[in-house]
Amino acid sequence: MASAPAPAPAAPAAAPARAPVVTRFAPSPTGRLHVGNIRTALLNWLTARKLGGRFLLRLDDTDAARSTEAFAASIREDLAWLGLHPDGEVRQSDRLARYAEVLEALAAAGHAYPAYETPEELELKRKVQLAQGLPPVYDRAALALTAADRARLEAEGRRPHWRFRLSPDLPHRWDDLVRGPSHIDPASLSDPVIRRADGSWLYMLPSVVDDIDMGVTHVLRGEDHVTNTGIQLQMFAALGHPPPAFGHAPLLTGTEGKLSKRLGSIGVAEFRAAGIEPLAVKALLARLGTSLPVEPVTSDEPLIETFDLSHLGRAHPRFDEAELLALNAKILHALPHAAVAGRVPLSEAEWLAVRGNLRTLAEAAEWKAVIDGPVAAPPQPEEAAYLAEAARLLETLEMGPETWGALTAALAERTGRKGKSLFLPLRLALTGRASGPDMAALLPLIGKHEALARLRA
Ligand code: GLU
Repeated sequence: MASAPAPAPAAPAAAPARAPVVTRFAPSPTGRLHVGNIRTALLNWLTARKLGGRFLLRLDDTDAARSTEAFAASIREDLAWLGLHPDGEVRQSDRLARYAEVLEALAAAGHAYPAYETPEELELKRKVQLAQGLPPVYDRAALALTAADRARLEAEGRRPHWRFRLSPDLPHRWDDLVRGPSHIDPASLSDPVIRRADGSWLYMLPSVVDDIDMGVTHVLRGEDHVTNTGIQLQMFAALGHPPPAFGHAPLLTGTEGKLSKRLGSIGVAEFRAAGIEPLAVKALLARLGTSLPVEPVTSDEPLIETFDLSHLGRAHPRFDEAELLALNAKILHALPHAAVAGRVPLSEAEWLAVRGNLRTLAEAAEWKAVIDGPVAAPPQPEEAAYLAEAARLLETLEMGPETWGALTAALAERTGRKGKSLFLPLRLALTGRASGPDMAALLPLIGKHEALARLRA
């Protein structure tokens, strides 16, 4: 009897189905973005681009009194200027009914409860606790209320606010993408208020509901949110949903120290006014506080390719505007014409001639004006004969990249001049300036006819 066929080799275990990466940037439209927000947006954008995912903009506009359309529009414009284009947008104010539905479910499962204390009563409790040397953690008195107690309070005209019930039995540890193993102690925190008595929403629960509904896989934000993460971890679990990965970046400091007012007021408007390239902002903020050096990249790609949250250290990186300006200049010096075409009125040859002298792109137009003329050269009566000799020689030369070298070599031979006395009168007459781009590149751009006119002027 033939033996049974050998069992087919086991199929390789299927890789666990991984959700596509989704990150989000979640500013409140209650002000303009500042450099700290911009860095958070960038970290989320880089993560999405690196991992082939989606980057969403979420407008946290539950604070109806402080949120404005104008700020929402400025956030979109600033992200567009930076080239951090969101793959979608969500507004919390469109989702209030959804939050109410989720709160109802949490309350039904015992994870949220109504409380009726007024702010004054809560303040009094805090004072008593502090006086007794106790931590000012909410005492959960509301949990002891009976249905009859609640009916009586409501009959008195009191409206409940809602708290989420923290629990040592819900998860409170996570492996932070930046900080490593992290945790909170739920017993040391007050049950957070998630909805106010007037029905308005605090940030904590809506953020979790959105992250679930938007399929967010990575929540990357500043380390001022670490405690929130512990609380939100409990909310994800209470809602029966696996949490996203969390990463918390150390906050930036300014050159004047940690509590820099200036830092909170620097944003895209200031960058634009200073002539900073979006790429320079990205190149600096992508690497600040990481183990990789800040480099004058000429496109986003190297920033995306090398990006890894684990490169972020734990120290507070210093944001220095002077460093940004210096990086901006280095980037301009290396940018190909294609990267600026349409933004500056220079041909490729003109761009290549002047880029090495730029600190900001706006300065390119100044050099274009020098090339095209007319230039207002300072009078040099004592150099009249020298400049006339230069004009005579130039007339005999073909114009090209070698012309400047040939002209100055011939002048040196005839006049015995060298160094500054050889070059400076020519540069002043031809450009109106004592310094600037390499004359060998500039002279052919000025052209023979115009150069002769300037030397003879
Ligand atoms: N609106 C919150 C903030 O700007 C969002 C925090 C988060 O990323 O969850 O701080």
